[in-house]
Amino acid sequence: MALIVHKYGGTSMGSTERIRNVAKRVAKWHRAGHQMVVVPSAMSGETNRLLGLAKELAPAHSDAAHGRELDMLAATGEQASSALLAIALQAEGVGSVSYAGWQVQVKTDSSYTKARIESIDDERVRADLDAGRVVVITGFQGVDDGGNITTLGRGGSDTSAVAVAAALKADECLIYTDVDGVYTTDPRVEPDARRMKTVSFEEMLEMASLGSKVLQIRSVEFAGKYKVPLRVLSSFTPWDIDIKEEAVSGTLITFEEDENMEQAVVSGIAFNRDEAKISVLGVPDKPGIAFQILGAVADANIEVDVIIQNLSKDGKTDFSFTVHRNDYSKTVDLLNAKVLPELGAAKVEGDAKICKVSIVGIGMRSHVGVASKMFRVLSEEGINIQMISTSEIKTSVVIDEKYMELAVRALHKAFDLDQAAS
Ligand code: ADP
Ligand code: ASP
Ligand code: MG
Repeated sequence: MALIVHKYGGTSMGSTERIRNVAKRVAKWHRAGHQMVVVPSAMSGETNRLLGLAKELAPAHSDAAHGRELDMLAATGEQASSALLAIALQAEGVGSVSYAGWQVQVKTDSSYTKARIESIDDERVRADLDAGRVVVITGFQGVDDGGNITTLGRGGSDTSAVAVAAALKADECLIYTDVDGVYTTDPRVEPDARRMKTVSFEEMLEMASLGSKVLQIRSVEFAGKYKVPLRVLSSFTPWDIDIKEEAVSGTLITFEEDENMEQAVVSGIAFNRDEAKISVLGVPDKPGIAFQILGAVADANIEVDVIIQNLSKDGKTDFSFTVHRNDYSKTVDLLNAKVLPELGAAKVEGDAKICKVSIVGIGMRSHVGVASKMFRVLSEEGINIQMISTSEIKTSVVIDEKYMELAVRALHKAFDLDQAAS
């Protein structure tokens, strides 16, 4: 007997028919003798619908201004889907109880709309499990010290599931979704993408942080910190598929490097359309400018990603960086109002129609020329690189958004990702 956590995403919970299927699948695992905890997302489209209503009432709303109420609102999606799943399980003859985040004390900090989990009280859950019940815990939400409902950022149910698995020291956390595993790139963009049987934790962390939305990055961080065995698999296989076959399907995130395994130099390609580029032009080139520009941005709680500073010419330089698209106009306004006059820079320019494309692979550590191959492939396609950023196991470029698919496909092919052995 093992303790298993299942997480089902929005599409997998998208209708009563699908919820019934989830219940049948979970009931099968329960009957096989496992203790089961299930973490569902809201039914697909529900979180967007709810947040859209808020936008109708306050078109210029910001997460900072209405964060607490946005979380009150968005958390209802998961409360509804969790109750429906518990009802469906009971209808299958399986004892089940659902809990909201505050009821099992998924404690978070108070940063509304992007709260971080601090602790989970497992006592109540354990008592139910010991009594043979399947426990359903809402994804995406928690409660802060003041008793306010918080949410964990879009895609946050992955993180709820892994955090619950860590708190309960579960034997495995299975993330059921609408694809049958982690692919070399998003199969919606490159139909020739290949499912990986395993992916190393470090690569998964990079892929998630660089935009692969199959797992929320914090879920991967949690899995790494607490060594939670994590697998991504399909909820669209027949629910009554042989459980042994199901248990080894999908993609396993591995923590140990398999020394015998031939590492592909590049194992995946990620892309992110959520960023915007901002340039401060004609900045006097003197010590402290990066701090003056980015310090003001950080003080406004805006995260910065790729940064470049050009070589100076005639004592002046250009300084560019990327932020999340949601923070784009706020950042431009802030720079125009505060930083430009103080710095004596010429002007602030921006471009929200960019995207970041990245190649990822631990094999890049021991191979040279990988980045230059990437640049060559892009130049052969006539794609202009606007910014570059590298780390030990990834190279990212910022390019015009309209070339994103072309870039992803060309790189996927050039690095033989449709053929490499997993
Ligand atoms: P869920 O609602 O189950 O959480 P998501 O939409 O958040 O599902 O994540 C699954 C989606 O992630 C897939 O449908 C796929 O389009 C996308 N995706 C992006 N990159 C990858 C990748 N490398 N491998 C698999 N899926 C990916
Ligand atoms: N329902 C939330 C969202 O749409 C959380 C999740 O699905 O993981 O972002
Ligand atoms: Mg998701």
